[in-house]
Amino acid sequence: MILRKGLLPNKRLGQNFLVNQGIIKKIIVAAALTKTDTVLEIGPGHGALTFTLAKEAGKVVAIEKDRALAEILRNELAERNITNVEIIEGDILSFLDDPHSPLPPRYHVVANIPYYLTSALIRQLLELTRPPERILLTIQKEVAQRIAAHSGKESILSLAVKFYADARILFPISRGSFSPVPNVDSAVIEIIPRKESSPIPPKAFFAVMKAGFLAPRKKLPGNLAKGLSLNKEKIVALLSELGINPNARPEQLALVQWISLAQHLQAHLA
Ligand code: SAH
Repeated sequence: MILRKGLLPNKRLGQNFLVNQGIIKKIIVAAALTKTDTVLEIGPGHGALTFTLAKEAGKVVAIEKDRALAEILRNELAERNITNVEIIEGDILSFLDDPHSPLPPRYHVVANIPYYLTSALIRQLLELTRPPERILLTIQKEVAQRIAAHSGKESILSLAVKFYADARILFPISRGSFSPVPNVDSAVIEIIPRKESSPIPPKAFFAVMKAGFLAPRKKLPGNLAKGLSLNKEKIVALLSELGINPNARPEQLALVQWISLAQHLQAHLA
């Protein structure tokens, strides 16, 4: 399948199309959409999810970078008389970057995305002035596990997501559910942006957290001192004061500890 009109899947665009109907159904059920919902889909491809999303939701806005695919999908939608889907040909990152892009005040994201986009896309969605109500993404399984990691195994990625949202893995998808079959397994991750604003300016939080991860295997005080050009002894003292083990490695700190560290260090940031 998927060689319609002589088109070969474009690896560079991360084209691995969902072909398992059971999985498509499972994603749609998890999306739990109603006719009052608008959905933003990223990379609709041949429409594996799009057609069903159109049945469940009030409106679907789908951004597809591949011009030929966007054209095929538009024709297919017209043939099926589906009128509540808008296909926009373009790059999702530029689309989200542009304040004039047609995004409603409330919308959901449901998508099986090209995996090369994962981190950049999630960050951009979460940093929007009006982030989605809920984000349901099919991504590489290992990346989903890293994002949803529990304390003790945090990374810049997991903390960056948790700073803005609650994330959990809903279910795995084996590689055989896609065509062409990719080299990795997948999982559906649910990310729900928090409504309340962050307890500290994102800039201060990210500056401190990224400095802390400067050398992920090394201990915190050295990383923070080097990354923020601060005195190491003072940092050790501050960590003890905050009840954080000065021998801890960055992956061992929980989000709340990074926030409290950043609150205390923000006055010293350049
Ligand atoms: N959702 C479809 C296709 C998944 S493959 C399915 O599940 O079958 C990923 C899709 O994202 C491809 O159609 C690819 O062309 C598109 N894509 C890749 N990079 C993109 C970008 N930067 N912006 C928008 N779409 C992109």
